[in-house]
Amino acid sequence: MNNILAKLPTTIQIDGSQGEGGGQILRTALALSMITGQAFELINIRAGRKKSGLMRQHLVCVQASQQISQAYIEGAELHSQRLYFAPQHVQSGKYQFQIGSAGSTTLVLQTLLPALLLQNEASELTISGGTHNPLAPTADFIEHCFLPCLKKLGIGVDFKLNKAGFFPIGAGEIQITIQPWLNREKLDLLDCGSLQSIDAFAAVLNLSEEAQIVQRELATLNKRLTLNSQQHFHLKGISQGNTVYVKVEHQHHTQLFTALGEMRKSAEQIANNLAEDVKYYLNSKAVVDEYLADQLLLPLALGQGGRFTAQCISEHTRTQAAMIEKFIDCNIEFIELDKTLFQVNIHVK
Ligand code: ATP
Repeated sequence: MNNILAKLPTTIQIDGSQGEGGGQILRTALALSMITGQAFELINIRAGRKKSGLMRQHLVCVQASQQISQAYIEGAELHSQRLYFAPQHVQSGKYQFQIGSAGSTTLVLQTLLPALLLQNEASELTISGGTHNPLAPTADFIEHCFLPCLKKLGIGVDFKLNKAGFFPIGAGEIQITIQPWLNREKLDLLDCGSLQSIDAFAAVLNLSEEAQIVQRELATLNKRLTLNSQQHFHLKGISQGNTVYVKVEHQHHTQLFTALGEMRKSAEQIANNLAEDVKYYLNSKAVVDEYLADQLLLPLALGQGGRFTAQCISEHTRTQAAMIEKFIDCNIEFIELDKTLFQVNIHVK
């Protein structure tokens, strides 16, 4: 392996313990390596997490990336603390990936999407696993918030939630068609414009209707927020779970806030916490929330750049910016305008 490293002067060295020290460093390194063709060596993988190293869902990200880019890899094993990844050629096409547990399908998508949308042909992905996981965007967030925002950049992605997958069984499925990114638009989202509507959505999968979880969540949200509608939606799948989200639509941006049912939390507690998140957002002048902020950095850096305001700049977002600047000639700047208002500028050189 050292011979190979010595022959490849472009190998980028990455310390996985930097910043937040989580799995995002790996996903972003994979995405950018496939795009730039630069190999990387990642050490101290997820050193900032309790269970460090590659977990099953991270491994699937590595294997899926290897498959679409015919990469040479070393260290792609469960719990591995080190990975060497040298991509060859990204190939668009039809792919199926199975995480084999409730590992997040949306995080696999996050890894593959940037490289596939830069190809000349469309791709179709089917990914099975978890679709509604804590600490990851839910399928609803991807479909109704992330992808509509990417559309403003000229990115065309069709997304279908075929089956929902909740922890621990998972067995959900998402299906995505990625069109080549032809017209790269700049993003200018400093102001969200006037408020159009606030709508609440809730669903349960294979849980008893007697507990009235959906009804209680929607009723709580209705008490706490001025809602335009409350919608009970249906999910298919074999796992069990509950998901609830609030869609806040402004003139120039649609933001989603999501929550998942938890064993020892009442439907009222889940909905109250969610309502707090929405109120906090409505009281700030920011356009995007904490999560969309970190998810937008890479697409913007790959396109024409742009600017937006965000409610908060997490350690996760700062780590993401540092990773992007390692691979791409761009400058990402965070300006604090107020306690809950930050401006993010992305200049592409
Ligand atoms: P780990 O090392 O545990 O795998 P990670 O770095 O992979 O950690 P997180 O830091 O939890 O994972 O973040 C994963 C991604 O999920 C980020 O892009 C983040 O924006 C997104 N995310 C997390 N929570 C939410 C949420 N509630 N809504 C939308 N997106 C979310």
